[in-house]
Amino acid sequence: MAWIPIIATFILGAILGSFINVLIYRMPREESLWHPRSHCPHCKAMIPWFRNIPIISFVIQQGKCASCTQSISWQYPLVEIINGCVWAVCFYIFIPLQAGLTAMFSSVLITLAWIDYKTMMIPLSLIITGICIIVISVFAGLLVWQMVFWGAFAGVLIPLAMMGLTYLFTRRQGMGWGDIQLGLILGAWLGPWFMMIALFLAALFGILAWISISIINGFDRNRPLPFAPYLVVSTMALLFCESWVVLWFDKFLLL
Ligand SMILES: [Zn+2]
Repeated sequence: MAWIPIIATFILGAILGSFINVLIYRMPREESLWHPRSHCPHCKAMIPWFRNIPIISFVIQQGKCASCTQSISWQYPLVEIINGCVWAVCFYIFIPLQAGLTAMFSSVLITLAWIDYKTMMIPLSLIITGICIIVISVFAGLLVWQMVFWGAFAGVLIPLAMMGLTYLFTRRQGMGWGDIQLGLILGAWLGPWFMMIALFLAALFGILAWISISIINGFDRNRPLPFAPYLVVSTMALLFCESWVVLWFDKFLLL
């Protein structure tokens, strides 16, 4: 196995992960993405480039700001590591063009899942970025537009039906419109069949997580359940384990 391309794509992904951290922090606050430059959220000191190296700076500074020694969130290196790994995996399993577009799409998903987890909101600009990547992928011949259409159809209709049923039984909204928009781009990317599996897995993970949190922190009927992170994790698991999952479902259905 050639390690150099894998390490190179990991580094590229980690650098982009650093920018994802900026997006996660600034998008919900509606701050400019470019100005001011990176600064410590505690003491507002500017972070020079040599203290802003993904993962490495965090390790060297032992998770503390170099100016005020306040702790830096573990979220920063974690997002960089996750995005680096996703990029390395994409370039390891896909051909370059497909790898690039899949990696970009995955980075958009990571960003919006993280923002949804923190704020229960999904920025529309990320959905639009996702749509752009899908359109490019169709023109590049990586996605078939019929599958994109029916996938988007399933990705919108099934969550809408789930939302309707939730409202009917609990009189609460359950999912938000952001989840419907996310369903649109995930369905378009995955196609209808995988979208159904992704929704099923996401609901399963979500309910399990909700029950676990309720056991630890006590039962709260009104505890919100961000759906996007589970949907994104299910989608990426499906993308990366596609052949394995198809095999498993074939076996399962033939039993
Ligand atoms: Zn500081």
